[in-house]
Amino acid sequence: MGVDRLLFGPPQEPTVSVERISTNQTCPACGSHEVARYPVANFIGPRMVVKCQECFTHLATTVPTADDHWPPWASATSDWPASRNG
Ligand SMILES: [Zn+2]
Repeated sequence: MGVDRLLFGPPQEPTVSVERISTNQTCPACGSHEVARYPVANFIGPRMVVKCQECFTHLATTVPTADDHWPPWASATSDWPASRNG
């Protein structure tokens, strides 16, 4: 984990958005090539999803890695292994 995960300033832009990275996959539901991977925050916590951008068919959900920088405000110990006490 880099220091950039611990020390960061407030956003300078008027709105905040995430980058949706194309995966060069084909949607199995509609055949579109507009499939992207991007971060989300849902009921099970921060995750990375792969979804079709045309019909929003869900293709994959994974736990973010350190390289994903998601969430940007993760604690310094977020990637430490948990003890039996949590
Ligand atoms: Zn689709």
